[in-house]
Amino acid sequence: MKGLKCCENCNSKWSWKQTIKKTTTFDPAMICPYCEGKQYQTQKSKNKSALLTSIVVFLILLISNLFDMSLAGALVLLPVSIAIILFIYPYLVELIRTEEYINFFKDKR
Ligand SMILES: [Zn+2]
Repeated sequence: MKGLKCCENCNSKWSWKQTIKKTTTFDPAMICPYCEGKQYQTQKSKNKSALLTSIVVFLILLISNLFDMSLAGALVLLPVSIAIILFIYPYLVELIRTEEYINFFKDKR
């Protein structure tokens, strides 16, 4: 699928499902399903996903305002927005071989 990212080690393309699986864990290191090399998300793509989340939250607030929805109505939109975020998210993910920013601490070992 177009837009999905490749592993920096082996150049294999991660599928949408694989990317979701790797990015929804709390472990910042993502193991490539093809070469088992560690991949990390770039800071830039993390910023993009934060931006995506804010846009979706803003849209929900806007829609609930426009249609004069109650808080309960806005809460109904929540699973929808999570679905939208999850759908777009893998396209924003950019992989890098080394973890950015955190390297500083690792070098100290
Ligand atoms: Zn790989």
